[in-house]
Amino acid sequence: SIYLDYQATTPTDPKVLAELTPYYAASFGNPHSAEHWFGWQAAKAVETARQRIAQLINADSDEIVFTSGATESNNLALLGLVEHYTGPRKKIFISSIEHKSILSICHKLEKKFSLEVVKIPVDNNGFIDIEWLSNNANEDTFIISIIAVNNEIGTVQNLDVIGKIARKSGAIFHSDASQAPQAMEIDVLRSGIDILSLSSHKIYGPKGIGAIYISRELQKHIEPIIYGGGQENGLRGGTLPAPLCVGMGMAAKLIKEHFTCENQSIASLRNLFFEMLQARINDINLNGPSWPRRHPGNINLCFPGINAQDLIAVLQPRIAASSGSACSSGIVEPSHVLRAIGCSHEEAQSSIRFSLGRMSTRQEVEEAVEIIVDGVTKLRRS
Ligand code: PMP
Repeated sequence: SIYLDYQATTPTDPKVLAELTPYYAASFGNPHSAEHWFGWQAAKAVETARQRIAQLINADSDEIVFTSGATESNNLALLGLVEHYTGPRKKIFISSIEHKSILSICHKLEKKFSLEVVKIPVDNNGFIDIEWLSNNANEDTFIISIIAVNNEIGTVQNLDVIGKIARKSGAIFHSDASQAPQAMEIDVLRSGIDILSLSSHKIYGPKGIGAIYISRELQKHIEPIIYGGGQENGLRGGTLPAPLCVGMGMAAKLIKEHFTCENQSIASLRNLFFEMLQARINDINLNGPSWPRRHPGNINLCFPGINAQDLIAVLQPRIAASSGSACSSGIVEPSHVLRAIGCSHEEAQSSIRFSLGRMSTRQEVEEAVEIIVDGVTKLRRS
């Protein structure tokens, strides 16, 4: 089976696995046990991991808090800031192509607090309307939260520009950067990011762990959402899973080290994949931006006249890909991201995301093209 769903999750890199395994075995200590060697050894490894994550985004290690994943990081960012806040600002700006986790937190914030969540319009490639933001961000804006790299269409936002607008208006700038490390160099200082969410399993690290960068200044202005024994500077209670922390640290180190080379090689495979499909299948359309400002592994295609779910089913078990649709209570909802960039309901339901990554090969791409051509031909004939 050919795995083309790297944006859903990545395989754990063997180097990550090798680095973390000892912390499930001989070095099993609790990193918070401060009185003996087992604890010290685990704590030291966790701190190295924290440093590696900090280096990935140009932060200091005391600004990194471990969480269970980007979903929790997003919860901590928005809920934690809102719960602490007593000032007059009343609005949260998000893009209309945020991940479901941000959307559902915002839904709760609107209901529970007297806050207004405003969606910044995006163009038909998913780029937020900078002029709109610049005209609308003001002393009433509490948080601006923007997904750095979109998980469905790969749009890479211009964080530097958004950061400047946030600064000018005095708003806090949060970014969900779960998909970003493979697509862009993140620099929280240069981009003026105050708080940023990361996920380990999107960067070849273990599942069940993530991190959040909270600038030193902002740490005084946020409430935890998980209370416990004062771990993580009081910002997130609970014993740290040392093996997972170590794994995420290694994953961060590897993705930073190989960024330039890997970004280019994945992008050229992706481009080849697209060109081959275009040459073999009539009438396919690319959803989302052209290459330079797009995640290197992402390709989102509309196959007019074909139902995405049918195509994915026909590709089983040979190709793993996904439709952005969400199935809630038996009704398939077309992707809100595709709808936001102007796709019709039908176009959205005919679209599939393929995503390539570190372990993808040319041979896989060539085989996948044959299988997809076959599947499309079959469905268009029937
Ligand atoms: N944000 C984005 C953009 C994502 O792609 C994902 C994963 N689909 C998440 C948040 C949630 O991350 P996690 O699985 O680590 O909770």
